[in-house]
Amino acid sequence: MLAENRLLDENTQTPVLGTMTEMDHEEVLFCHDKATGLKAIIAVHNTILGPALGGTRMWTYASESDAITDVLRLSRGMTYKAAAAGLNLGGGKAVIIGDARTQKTEAKMRRFGQFVNDLGGKYYTAEDVGMTSRDMELIGMHTKYVTGLPEYLGGSGNPSPVTAFGVYVGMKASAKFAFGTDNLQGKKVAVQGCGSVGQALINYLVKEGAQVFVNDIFEDKIAETTAKYGVQAITTEDLFNGSFDVYAPCALGATVNDETLNTMNVSVIAGAANNQLADELKHSARIKEKGIVYAPDFVINAGGLINVYAEYLGNYNQKSAMEKTENIYSVILEVLNNASENNITSLEAAKNLAENRIQQMAALKLPYSGC
Ligand code: NAD
Repeated sequence: MLAENRLLDENTQTPVLGTMTEMDHEEVLFCHDKATGLKAIIAVHNTILGPALGGTRMWTYASESDAITDVLRLSRGMTYKAAAAGLNLGGGKAVIIGDARTQKTEAKMRRFGQFVNDLGGKYYTAEDVGMTSRDMELIGMHTKYVTGLPEYLGGSGNPSPVTAFGVYVGMKASAKFAFGTDNLQGKKVAVQGCGSVGQALINYLVKEGAQVFVNDIFEDKIAETTAKYGVQAITTEDLFNGSFDVYAPCALGATVNDETLNTMNVSVIAGAANNQLADELKHSARIKEKGIVYAPDFVINAGGLINVYAEYLGNYNQKSAMEKTENIYSVILEVLNNASENNITSLEAAKNLAENRIQQMAALKLPYSGC
């Protein structure tokens, strides 16, 4: 299905982004297969910079409408993420409706691979919530448009260590802006979410001598993290009522909202979670009002995408993906300086950075056509 109200530039006939405030997707594919029970949606938001690359999420959506909203929002976020990170990629994402623990079958994965293949390289998939590198291997039986393959197949494997490194350097850049030094020694950092990215980030922070406070919904995760890194556990109430230098959201989205912003006493927000602000416009403005330095999520958490991009380019090695990820430090500083100079929110500055690049390229080339 082609998005109906996609605007085309008069001269180049390429999609116009404007401020990308609308869900102006290039293509949305509904994948229904009775034989395997597969129900999936692939959303290609924008391919001006290159093929749309974004993970597939398997989730128990309450309704198809929720799944559509999620895939449209997430794919748009991938366009921003790739553009701001300087990658030659567009934005896309896929969702499979179902419980990854009980409803995932080999047949569904393989059938999904055929649907990805049908898009002819306009969309490359990867792992997201509920999916593993083994699933990518099954999908890869039917398409070459897949990344995040296991390392034994020459893939990049788990992206979390690279994402965590990007968040760490992005946090240092935010600290430089907020405190005049990027040294995190002695800084009080509250990390929500002790998962793959959270723990790898905590490791960097502890090594640098930060005072780290951790929070998770699962007791075993807290016990594992406090024992491994010697950090202190805090309750969710303490997290949003206490006083910290940095809040690092590394669990789920929307933790920066009306309620938490009322009580939160932090100088910096810098973490891995996607869609950290419950309401982008309202909460980025409130953050600015409160004088909090916010590292926009799609800029600071781009390490995972940079990692699969390295795999997509071929001859993957983690060292070069890490080197490219280190650039997040400069991009975050550029965004924060730009926001301050122009008296706009850091989110707006980050979107401008991404959109300017896309607009410039839109004037030069047609949407990616697989060449
Ligand atoms: P994960 O599932 O390994 O870890 C998430 C952790 O958050 C889990 O331990 C979970 O128990 C905890 N959690 C969930 N809800 C919580 C809550 N309300 N309060 C406290 N803790 C809670 O996930 P991950 O791979 O570490 O990713 C973390 C975040 O970063 C996610 O939002 C993800 O979308 C985002 N992200 C991850 C990557 C990556 O490379 N893994 C890349 C970009 C963005």
